[in-house]
Amino acid sequence: MSSSILPAASSVLVVCAHPDDESFGLGAVLTAFAEQGARTSVLCFTRGEASTLHVTDDDLATVRSLEFAKAAAVLGVSRTELLGYPDGQLSDQPLSELTAHVVRMANEVAADLLLVLDEGGITGHPDHERATQIAMTAATPRGVPVLAWVIADGVAETLNHEFSAKFMGRSDDQLDFRISVDRTIQGEAIACHESQSSSNPVLRRRLELSGDLEPLRWLIPVAPLPSTTA
Ligand SMILES: [Zn+2]
Repeated sequence: MSSSILPAASSVLVVCAHPDDESFGLGAVLTAFAEQGARTSVLCFTRGEASTLHVTDDDLATVRSLEFAKAAAVLGVSRTELLGYPDGQLSDQPLSELTAHVVRMANEVAADLLLVLDEGGITGHPDHERATQIAMTAATPRGVPVLAWVIADGVAETLNHEFSAKFMGRSDDQLDFRISVDRTIQGEAIACHESQSSSNPVLRRRLELSGDLEPLRWLIPVAPLPSTTA
């Protein structure tokens, strides 16, 4: 059975591929962690220049970098790092090099929980899957728990039907948490990513279908406390 209470964490590090993943996907969960007192940080590997959603003639990498900074401020993120790996080609970059960024930043912010998109990448985007793989590779030898934001299978099925999309959902028995969230701040952060959100019916519909619930699952759970029995 899934819990409705977020796990305890004092420093949450988001590891994601694109500027907007932290808001469109993880914004409400990030806000929930901040509300319970956690410090939050975001490491993003690309500047999102390959997006097909262009509403500007300006350099998209520059536009999206500025949008990312604004959204992070709205979300109350205390530390961000936006790297310049090529959007759409994260899988071609060396895993050890990518992982080293996560290890370094996790040490700097003393992260005790990594927050990522679900395995499968939610939308099936290979960069999303790669970002989660990088986080797992960094966390596994260090025993840092990794929590994944997921979407419910019913929401995925509806989106796939209505938009011919490839969302990958999870069934109830695959969830560890289903928390109630307030999407007010997430909405403000989404609006900061104007180039990607001003005309994005799939995003609107996903938020509508998800309501105030966010499903989560452990990819690496918190290690159990050692037994104290003699
Ligand atoms: Zn993305």
